[in-house]
Parts: sequence; C-alpha cells; structure tokens
Amino acid sequence: SRTVLRVTDLVKHFPMRKGPLRRTVGVLKAVDGVSLELRAGETLGVVGESGCGKSTLARMLTAHERPTSGEVDLLGRPLHKLRGAELRRARRRVQLIFQDPSGSLNPRMTVAASVREPFDVNPDLAPRGERDRRVRELLELVGLGPGHAGRYPHQLSGGQRQRVGIARALALRPEVLVCDEPVSALDVSVQAQIVNLLERLRAELGLAYVFIAHDLGVVSHLADRVAVMYLGRVVETGPQERVYGHAAHPYTQALHAAAPLPDPALRGDREAPLEGEPPSPLDPPGGCSFHPRCPLARDTCATVPPPQVEVAPGHQVSCHLAG
Ligand code: SF4
Ligand code: MG
Repeated sequence: SRTVLRVTDLVKHFPMRKGPLRRTVGVLKAVDGVSLELRAGETLGVVGESGCGKSTLARMLTAHERPTSGEVDLLGRPLHKLRGAELRRARRRVQLIFQDPSGSLNPRMTVAASVREPFDVNPDLAPRGERDRRVRELLELVGLGPGHAGRYPHQLSGGQRQRVGIARALALRPEVLVCDEPVSALDVSVQAQIVNLLERLRAELGLAYVFIAHDLGVVSHLADRVAVMYLGRVVETGPQERVYGHAAHPYTQALHAAAPLPDPALRGDREAPLEGEPPSPLDPPGGCSFHPRCPLARDTCATVPPPQVEVAPGHQVSCHLAG
C-alpha cells in the first residue's frame, strides 16, 4: 500500500547553554538520524525508554518542531520545508495525540466548545450550519454521549479527557495520528478502553498510526510494525511478529525480559527496564551507544558503530552480532 509518512535521516540537536552568558556547552542529540516509513492504514509502534527521543520525534512528525536536518515527507509533501498557510493546511493531515490531554484542553471551555474549536480556526472544514452536528458526531464517534457536551475538563475522568483530545484531532480529518504515549497517564483499567477506541477508529476511518510507548506491552496489540529506539536512534525495526518473536537486538531482548508485570501495583511508574539509566544523550557513548549496558558487548562495540543489517525481510538490526 502507499506510503503516507516517510522520515529520512531525521536529526534534532538541541544546543545546551549554561551560565550568565548562555554559552553553548554541548549538544543534546535528541534524535540522531532516524529513518522510518508508515503505510496507509498501518500502525507503526515506536518503543523506547524515557529520553530516547520518542517525543521529539513525534513533534517533528507533526510539524510541532522543526528538524535540525533530514526530511519529513507527508502524503508526498515535504513537511519540513513548508511555511505559513501551506504548513497549516498540511499539518491538519497529521495530528498529535498527547500523553496528557489536559494540556491541550482549555479548562474554561466545555467539551462541545473544545471539539468545535477546530472548525472556528479552520472555517473551510464545515459550513457554519453543520458544525453542531459534526461536533455531536465526533463525540459519538469517541464514545462520549450528549450528556458530556456541556461539561468542563475538570468534570471529566482522564479517559474522557483523552476522548475529547481524540475528537478534536479527528475534527481536522487527519490521515495520520501520532499518538505519544496516549494511555501512559491513565488508570490501567481505562488504558484498554482507549486502546480499543483507537483501534476501532483506525479501522473505521482508515487512519494510519505512529503509536509511541515506553514498553513493548501496549504496542504488541496494536502495531503492524515496530521500531525500537535507543538514544535517538532506531536500533531494531521490523514486522510485529519478528520484533516480538525473534528480537535480534540485545536492547530489544532486554525490553522483552523486563515486560510489564501483570499486577499494576507492582509495576508503579517503572520506565527503566534495564540495569542502570540510559547514558545522557548530551554525551552519548561512542561505537554502539548501547555498549555500556549490553551484556553481549565486545571490544569493537565501544569504538565501531554497528552497521544496519537486514536479518529477515523488512527486519533491520543495528548490532555487530546481528546476521
Ligand atoms: Fe551489544 Fe555490541 Fe550489539 Fe551494541 S553492537 S548491541 S554493544 S553486541
Ligand atoms: Mg515522552
């Protein structure tokens, strides 16, 4: 099927400044050369620990952040190059769903007003006389009855707020949703409901998703393909059944070994599934950046960056031991 989103060698470096003169003391390599492809109707899961660059990637995919270098091609248009009205029109097609929707909801606006707002900002989306009906349809689509329309964000549960955030995104008729840990802030009992909702919307509306998570659990139900990120790079990517059944990168294998415990009370907020914290992206290790934590590391791993190897069709791994 056709490619809806293609990312080529995407880089985002943030200068780190210090002191009264704000002197540049280093460069934070948040995203350091990521290439990905999303096809129509597909879900690509992106998995990695906090600080691996997932959210920065999400913000570049949705034109909330400009890349330092590299390309974001959305439906055949260079998103990274567009400006002004062209950019505003293009970015409707790819919407970002946030981890905490509260940040994107105005506390003084009712649910109906929040979902209506995209139509006020983009009047060409629906004629004035049709907007109330569209709002009702959108609320119904995300499982919010008419009783919710007059409520304010503080009167809603976290799951209901996330539904409002999704309805607002859908108002713009996107083709791609980039979901940045959309259920991580929700109660475990609610997580499945939102995941099911996203799954249903994808099928009904023919959407394509980039679904970002910090563990492999949620993604396993949803993703057709999975990309595993470590320190700003994709270290393994492949079809879901390959990355789950035949993980080839030691980091992916460690993530599997640390899969979430079934009892949420035991799980807590654990985000680092491995021994030790990931090294700082401000000063990433040379060679293979995973080598300080890798149980299989050899001497060359500390000095020579691993090549990307295709170990099976569509299954790529950056590791000296792969293949
Ligand atoms: Fe481990 Fe070396 Fe492979 Fe990196 S290249 S993941 S350090 S074995
Ligand atoms: Mg994040």
